[in-house]
Amino acid sequence: MAPHTPPPSSRPGGAGALLDTTAFVGPDVPDFDALRSCVHCGICLPQCPTYRVLGEEMDSPRGRLYLIRAAAEGRLGLTETFGRHLDLCLGCRACETACPSGVPFGSLLEATRAQFHRRAPTASLLSRLIFAVFPEPARLGAILGPLRLYHRSGLQGLVRRSGALRRFPRLAAMDALLGDVPAGIRLAERVAAHGAARGRVGLLLGCVQRHLYPQVNRDTARLLALAGWEVVIPPEQGCCGALELHAGRLDEMRARARRLAAGFPRDLDFIVTNAAGCGSAMKAYGHWLPDDPEVVRLAGRTRDVSELLAAAELPLQPLPMTATYHDACHLAHGQRIRREPRALLGRIPGLRLVELPESELCCGSAGIYNLLEPDMADRLLERKIDRIVETGARVVVTANPGCLLQIAKGARARGLDLEILHPVEVLARAVDAGAARGAKP
Ligand code: SF4
Ligand code: SF4
Repeated sequence: MAPHTPPPSSRPGGAGALLDTTAFVGPDVPDFDALRSCVHCGICLPQCPTYRVLGEEMDSPRGRLYLIRAAAEGRLGLTETFGRHLDLCLGCRACETACPSGVPFGSLLEATRAQFHRRAPTASLLSRLIFAVFPEPARLGAILGPLRLYHRSGLQGLVRRSGALRRFPRLAAMDALLGDVPAGIRLAERVAAHGAARGRVGLLLGCVQRHLYPQVNRDTARLLALAGWEVVIPPEQGCCGALELHAGRLDEMRARARRLAAGFPRDLDFIVTNAAGCGSAMKAYGHWLPDDPEVVRLAGRTRDVSELLAAAELPLQPLPMTATYHDACHLAHGQRIRREPRALLGRIPGLRLVELPESELCCGSAGIYNLLEPDMADRLLERKIDRIVETGARVVVTANPGCLLQIAKGARARGLDLEILHPVEVLARAVDAGAARGAKP
């Protein structure tokens, strides 16, 4: 993003009363015209999860925008209190969906976080550890190996029962999220299309997805091939930088975006993601790297898997199940994709889809928010599980690894017999149900 210099007419105070003081400096300054587009109507407030929990104006979208604008106008510094209100924001972008004025809250938040990060890049030890490991698939894999042993040996159960982590809430939050760590699945670098290929797509493996939900990547490639796409899976691909974007670590995100763009063949029709957070970040690359044609091209070709499958014929056979669908924030609000996953599930014979009340309210996962802000995250999770229980569904479907982990954690904590699945896992089961009955997959 270009350094921000508000034109005189848009400067606070009008053309005749320019303010030269602002708390924001350098590149990635929140766009002042976008800030001014907030008309303070408050329509977004009831949709904001943190406002619903805390009832504090400064923990609402309108309040946060007020703070950001005050800083832009030099009336407020980058204070600890200001930073705290931003820290508590989930970045869920429900406010964007609600806003009649089209305020791009997500990019304003990310730019403001970038200002804080540049000014004082020191972060907690946990946060530094997370950013050193999560976006690095090899390191994440190396750490998850021993954690698989920790879970399977029964040591995790022992630690939980002992209450030893009670004095370390963030560590306890990490432990509570961790279920079994599955064995890896090695995917071919190329999966041929069934029948005449309609084109070639690349598959983003994701960081958490490839290690904790490898079957989701396997099923995605398989379904895309069934839908007529040749699937290319570069094995050395890295992280998309979504976590860094949401934390305002924009230099790191930009470096990852460039590497990712270079890692996929240029002639692909689309780059497919199955993780809402990754897709949302990749589709926003053009905003943050407008002068990099390769990255802008990648952004323009990024699709969520449900967008491609919705238009395809799939050999779906009866799958008796009652399921409910939770809208991942970065799919519903970030990518405006709500209809396609529901339509796909609705095409499975025998599957009864029960609408989830407050489906678009964040489950508290929000990237690494549940690790850094476990109290707020748990309160939102409690509410989400309450709504899920009310549906009577035994299967919860959602299209983001963070939501899968978070809802599974909530179900475990309550001893609920729930299965938490990605839409492609449900679709793959419906295809396999046909194979089991002798139909050709
Ligand atoms: S992004 Fe979500 S948590 Fe943050 S202000 Fe908007 S609605 Fe509230
Ligand atoms: S962000 Fe949008 S909905 Fe919220 S107060 Fe401003 S104009 Fe109204």
